[in-house]
Amino acid sequence: MSMFKTVRGMRDFLPRDAKELIYVEQVTRELAVLYGYEEILTPAVESYELLAAKSGEEIRQRMYVFTDIGGRKVGLRPEFTASVARLIATKLRNAPKPLKLFSVGSLYRYDEPQYGRFREFWQANYELIGSDQPEADAEILTISNHLLKKLGIRNYYFKIGHVGILRGILNQEGIMEEQQNQIMQMLDKKRWKNALTTIKQLGASRQCLTTLKKISETKGKAAFDILKETEDTVQNYRNAVAAVENLRQILVVAKAGENKFETLIEPGFARGLEYYTGIIFEPYVPELEIALGGGGRYDKLIELFGGESTPAVGVAQGIDRIVLAMKKQKAKFKIQEEKRAVVIPVTAEMKTKAFEISSMLRNAKIPTEMEVVGRSVSKALSDANRRKVAYAVLVGPEELEEEKIVLRYLTTRKQKTVDIKELVKKIKAAK
Ligand code: AMP
Repeated sequence: MSMFKTVRGMRDFLPRDAKELIYVEQVTRELAVLYGYEEILTPAVESYELLAAKSGEEIRQRMYVFTDIGGRKVGLRPEFTASVARLIATKLRNAPKPLKLFSVGSLYRYDEPQYGRFREFWQANYELIGSDQPEADAEILTISNHLLKKLGIRNYYFKIGHVGILRGILNQEGIMEEQQNQIMQMLDKKRWKNALTTIKQLGASRQCLTTLKKISETKGKAAFDILKETEDTVQNYRNAVAAVENLRQILVVAKAGENKFETLIEPGFARGLEYYTGIIFEPYVPELEIALGGGGRYDKLIELFGGESTPAVGVAQGIDRIVLAMKKQKAKFKIQEEKRAVVIPVTAEMKTKAFEISSMLRNAKIPTEMEVVGRSVSKALSDANRRKVAYAVLVGPEELEEEKIVLRYLTTRKQKTVDIKELVKKIKAAK
């Protein structure tokens, strides 16, 4: 027995688990095509400065950071958005907008391993760059809704807020951005008491405190009612009112037509990442306490990376957690298992011919394995049965003299002698 194990927080995906993850990944990719998002690949290793620039303290502290042999301070990407922002500010600087980009891959965070929380995890990311219109936000929300629906996930809802509501209030109260970020972090952790104490210490007005307190108590499913209530609460804060109106417009568009989805509107909802400027949302299912993904608008991010001021909105789908939700709900992974063939040489002299026939079948797109360990026919057949192979092709000297082989149907255990020339046709006919 080898003493090597996976590093804490890291996982192996054996074939069955890998298939499930890849299935979800494949559906995210199908949606990218359906909505016109082009796939890009960016490196897992980026400069520390880039990754640290605007990720938020939370993620910064949990980054895998190291110095490479050349002495560069680098990190493993904890999210895709920084890499995308780098591209928009550099290589895609002059690309016509809007840009719709899709990326999928593994990310790394030194999180405390627990249910649904890993140190290497997978995300599918959709970013819409170059529009500040509510229909762009609505599109990102719709893709998220479409994905969960398409995967057969039930009873999911989107927790939705808007960073502009809290920031609008804090700005008008003269609270600096740095301090706002700290307050948003506290709110992300639901530490309202701490946040309110800090805000008070920073000299905010009594009106501000009562407004925020009210906001902390406002949430509900009836989206437009909650928005109306919030609008009344924040009426003295011009930009907060505008944020509520923006959210209302997004939801009017997103909920149009057949796009049904449940919402939980929470105007005091904050997300740990500092770069959000508008709507923020997270999909949930009742069976899991953790979010399946996270999205929002981040209009200032690209500027921060030295690009031109460019509005952008995007979402990160947490593939691992989506897989967990599907398992909890017994949703079906529609993994196509193709019927396979195995080619078995009856004697050692038949190996070359068996090899040749295997190639012929694969060239005809029939998934084919060759018996490569020199087992007897009966051993090879029982192994094929165990592995649910559909057809066995037995290559023996007598049949071969007449350019024939024996085709055995492993489910019915029937077999017949077939011309090699007819083999592909016979197998395809049996499908
Ligand atoms: P964030 O970038 O923090 O907004 O995360 C977006 C989504 O990525 C989350 O909603 C999760 O689905 C997924 N995610 C984040 N961190 C982890 C983790 N440590 N393990 C598994 N999934 C994660």
